[in-house]
Amino acid sequence: MSVGILWFRQDLRIADNPALNAAVASCDTVVCLFIDDPQDQTISQLGSASRVWLHHSLTSLQQSLQQRGAELVFAVGDSEEVLAQASAHYGATHLFWNRCYDPVSIKRDTKIKQSLSDLQPESFNALLNAEPWEVLKGDDTPYRVYTPFWKMRSKSLPGPKPLSAPRAIPGIKKSKKGTKASAQFKPATIEDLALLPKLDWHVSMMSHWQVGEKAAKASLNRFLKAAVHDYTDARNIPSQIGTSRMSAHLHFGEISPRQIMHVLNKGAKDLSGLTAGEETFAKELIWREFAYSLLFYFPHTINKPLDKRFEHFPWEKRYKKRLTAWQQGKTGVPIVDAGMRELYATGWMHNRVRMIVASYLIKNLLIPWQDGEKWFRDTLVDADLASNAMGWQWAAGSGADAAPYFRIFNPVLQGEKFDKQGAYVRQWVPEIASVPDKFIHKPWEWVLEQGCSLNYPAPLVDLKESRQRALAAFETIKSPQ
Ligand SMILES: Cc1cc2nc3c(=O)[nH]c(=O)nc-3n(C[C@H](O)[C@H](O)[C@H](O)COP(=O)(O)OP(=O)(O)OC[C@H]3O[C@@H](n4cnc5c(N)ncnc54)[C@H](O)[C@@H]3O)c2cc1C
Repeated sequence: MSVGILWFRQDLRIADNPALNAAVASCDTVVCLFIDDPQDQTISQLGSASRVWLHHSLTSLQQSLQQRGAELVFAVGDSEEVLAQASAHYGATHLFWNRCYDPVSIKRDTKIKQSLSDLQPESFNALLNAEPWEVLKGDDTPYRVYTPFWKMRSKSLPGPKPLSAPRAIPGIKKSKKGTKASAQFKPATIEDLALLPKLDWHVSMMSHWQVGEKAAKASLNRFLKAAVHDYTDARNIPSQIGTSRMSAHLHFGEISPRQIMHVLNKGAKDLSGLTAGEETFAKELIWREFAYSLLFYFPHTINKPLDKRFEHFPWEKRYKKRLTAWQQGKTGVPIVDAGMRELYATGWMHNRVRMIVASYLIKNLLIPWQDGEKWFRDTLVDADLASNAMGWQWAAGSGADAAPYFRIFNPVLQGEKFDKQGAYVRQWVPEIASVPDKFIHKPWEWVLEQGCSLNYPAPLVDLKESRQRALAAFETIKSPQ
């Protein structure tokens, strides 16, 4: 009698889940286990918004598993200890999981492969189209620039076909009695994981989302039917639903990038038949793979600059008040405030606006990018170590293929270009809704011209002066080290 433990992590789905298929193919019984491990960087240590999403995602997974005959078992604690106790409890003979790529998971999983070697642990790729070590330069070193990464990657897309979900999963019947270790195994309920906060702010945030594997497929299909065709331009307009909003589904593994690539490619052998919008979308998906490659090969970049010169950057020393104003969407710069309020209300922010608010925090306020990264990690439903660190380092100019530091976004011009009539700003900053289009991205000029007042803060900093200050700060670290 073989009993396999399937350890769910960033793969909360039953279709195209290679570890699940392997467990079902080789074991008489499969124990589906989710561990809330306080040391886990990829899932458990994420912020409040992501943990709310996780609650709903696990609930959805539990239902899918039950429909196929299996239960999702929950546990809280150190993964290695829980796995040892669970394996004694259920008499496990095998252990399966899909790989994570953050440094803490890699170290932990490597150790578990040794300490639980009698379970013949097997790991698989379910999170990426290709493993980071499969996409290297000719000299076997990792890419630090996106375009050649895409060129190399696109040659072998769409890649292997996604796996079908197993029709039935032979779940556990009843617990075995057992040894001392097994007596220590304490299955938890989803409530014991305490993923939902006590205050009910999450209810309105989640009203913007449908969570789980079925919802992920439905959103993808909606996007591919309509919006993808205008994606190249519409993806820059924050007032429109011009992007797929697949990021949280992808982060939690409710859908795989392989599945997306195959639906996008409609069964063709290569990407040559894609429309312009579809190709741009495929490229964005590969930006995510680029981020994972950076995380895998340069794990320190989660909180340290890739470009070492930035270790000596003369950041502002005392900035708590300004950071709070940024977090609360009260900087006095409409597009920045709109983005920060969208984030707080929905757990998501449009990519163009992420770039604008990040540039403003780093360059106009001279606040270390790590503070912004941390706030995003706490408030985004799609918070992802790889993509978040890459996005912030891109904005700071300190990462791989980053925007040069001296290219400083002017948030007024960005607003005027990508939110022409101010529809986005008016939605999220209603205090200035009546300001005419001409001034909607610079209401302080309207206040001056009209001699009136608005119930909206004056800008925290002068945009021109702060730009000059940022450039001067950069001069101090400019020379290569
Ligand atoms: C400062 C900053 C922080 C960011 N933090 C995160 C984060 O924590 N988690 C996250 O998933 N993305 C992050 N991004 C990338 C990007 O903003 C989001 O992936 C995107 O806005 C998600 O919306 P969407 O699913 O509608 O994207 P779409 O435009 O529909 O793109 C499809 C998918 O491609 C991937 N993708 C798109 N753009 C990027 C990108 N620039 N980098 C990496 N992957 C990308 C995402 O998985 C996305 O779901 C960040 C960007 C910046 C500038």
